[in-house]
Amino acid sequence: TRVVVAIDGPAGSGKSSVSRAAARALGYEFLDTGAGYRSLAWLGLERGTDLEDPEAVVGLLDGFDYAIGTDPDDVRVRVGDVDVTAAIREPRVSGAVSSIARVPQVRVHLNDLFRSLLDAPGRPGIVAEGRDITTVVAPDAPVRILLTADEMARLARRAGELDGQSDADVARQVLERDRRDSQVVDFMTAADGVLTLDSTQLTFDETIDAVVSLIRA
Ligand code: C5P
Repeated sequence: TRVVVAIDGPAGSGKSSVSRAAARALGYEFLDTGAGYRSLAWLGLERGTDLEDPEAVVGLLDGFDYAIGTDPDDVRVRVGDVDVTAAIREPRVSGAVSSIARVPQVRVHLNDLFRSLLDAPGRPGIVAEGRDITTVVAPDAPVRILLTADEMARLARRAGELDGQSDADVARQVLERDRRDSQVVDFMTAADGVLTLDSTQLTFDETIDAVVSLIRA
């Protein structure tokens, strides 16, 4: 069995880019669980599914053929024959994903998939990031980190990331998504035994170094 590093945090905490860079630095794999939720939301939007209808959402799981790369240098995501790597970052997907993420069967289904990737043979370790990795997906992971940052810092990091949208729009969407997501899983407070790393005062590189040090410790 290999080392599993679990990292959770809110939107804009930088957990995805930090986790990926830390995985690269350590020669580990990287699992972006949010990409799984986003892929299912993308599929629902493609099919015109009513995402507010839990039964319709559960129906999407039937034959959901989704593949995610765990190489930090190649994180392409595929649904069926379609490369959705870019599409799943679009605002329409970000706006829809919380609706599917709150359906319990969706979480159980995706968590099984995530755990099979964590258990698969491969590099000596894997860094998995999301909202409930430290608590639900991999509560026994030897390294569990909650990556936080003040709201202002998180919004500043997200601002300018999305073309064609004002910073105010982006801010509103990020806060609304966190509000809806935190009704499903609590990723704002560290569970017992989970280390909190506050990146508010840290640069990107300093945050990566801090994560790598925690993993090496
Ligand atoms: O991490 P990211 O912002 O890409 O996640 C997209 C969405 O997927 C979140 O807003 C949340 O609704 C859902 N998600 C989740 N549990 C996870 C990872 C993501 O519910 N472990």
